Amino acid sequence: MHCDAIIIGGSFAGLSAAMYLARGRRSVCIVDAGAPRNRFAAHSHGFFAHDGSEPATMLATARAQVAAYPTTTFVEGEAVRAARDGDGFSVRLATGEVHHGARLILAFGISDELPAIPGLAERWGTSVLHCPYCHGYELSGRRLGVLNTSPTSMHQAMLISEWGPATLFLNGAPEPDAATRAQLHRRRVAIEPAPVRALLGTGAQLSAVELSDGRTVDADAIYLSPRNRLNSDIAQQLGCATDEAPLGTIVRTDDVRMTTVPGVFAAGDIVRATHTVAWASADGVTAGLAAHRSLVF
Ligand SMILES: Cc1cc2nc3c(=O)[nH]c(=O)nc-3n(C[C@H](O)[C@H](O)[C@H](O)COP(=O)(O)OP(=O)(O)OC[C@H]3O[C@@H](n4cnc5c(N)ncnc54)[C@H](O)[C@@H]3O)c2cc1C
Repeated sequence: MHCDAIIIGGSFAGLSAAMYLARGRRSVCIVDAGAPRNRFAAHSHGFFAHDGSEPATMLATARAQVAAYPTTTFVEGEAVRAARDGDGFSVRLATGEVHHGARLILAFGISDELPAIPGLAERWGTSVLHCPYCHGYELSGRRLGVLNTSPTSMHQAMLISEWGPATLFLNGAPEPDAATRAQLHRRRVAIEPAPVRALLGTGAQLSAVELSDGRTVDADAIYLSPRNRLNSDIAQQLGCATDEAPLGTIVRTDDVRMTTVPGVFAAGDIVRATHTVAWASADGVTAGLAAHRSLVF
C-alpha cells in the first residue's frame, strides 16, 4: 500500500494525528499493535469531557470516528522496520507486510519497567500508580506510599502528601540528605528506610506494604516513577536524534513535532518526560497538522 502518511501506533497520539490528516483529505495508514499504555487502568481521568471514562471505550470511539473517513486504513500488527524509500518511507510489519508512505508519524508509546516486588505488577493501574493527577483524587485522605525508584521519588513523595498522609519507602536506598529530609518533614512525609519485601492486599486492592524485617505498614495505594522504555527502536533505525529524560529515552522533536529526520514526525509519550492523554492527543494533532502542511508546501 502507498499512502500520504503512515502512523505507527493507533492510540491517543496516533489517532489524533490520523484525524487531522484525514480531515485534510489525505490517505493515512495506521499500524497498531493494540496495547495502549493505560490498558491496566479501569478509568482515565483529567481529559477534557472524558473525566472517568474507560480508556478502551475512548479509543474505540476515536478509532470508529477516524475509520469513518474513507481515506483511512487500519492495519493490526507490529511495525518492526522503517527506512527511507525514495521520496518517502517504507514500514515493514512483523508479518513481512510492507507499506509505503510519503510521511511517517511515530506514536508507538512507551512501556513501564516495574520493580520486581511480589504483589506490585498485578496492582499496576489500580492501587499501584504513577500519577496523582490521573489517579489521586479518588484516594483523597487515604494512606498513601511512594516507592523510591529514582531520584524523582523525593519530589513525588512531597507532591503525594497533597492527596493524603504519605510514607516514602526508601526500599533500602541511603537516607536523603539533611535538606531533603527537612523538606519531606515539612510536607509531613514519613520515611521508612527498610527494603520492601512484598505488597499485600485482596485482589488488585492494596492494604499494606511488607518490609524485609517482617513489619507491615498500612497503605491503600503506592505511587512510583518506573523507568520508561520506547516500545520500538524504529526512531533509532531512521536516525532520529533522541534525548535522555529522567525516566528514559525520548525522541527529539521541534515545535511542530518533527524529528531530526525530515518527513518523520513523532507524538505522544515518546516525545516528552511527563505523560497524559491530553498531551498525547495534542501532540498528535500538532504532528498530523504539520505532516499535512509539509505535503502541501
Ligand atoms: C496505569 C496508567 C494509568 C494512566 N492513567 C491516565 C489517566 O487517568 N489520565 C491521563 O491523562 N493519562 C493517563 N495515563 C497516561 C496515558 O496512558 C498516556 O499518556 C497515553 O496512553 C499516551 O498515548 P500514546 O498514544 O503516546 O501511547 P499509547 O497510548 O501507549 O499507545 C501506543 C500505541 O502504539 C502501539 N505500538 C507500540 N509499538 C508498536 C509497533 N512497533 N507497531 C505498531 N504499533 C505499536 C501500542 O500497541 C499502542 O496501541 C496512564 C498511564 C498508565 C501507565
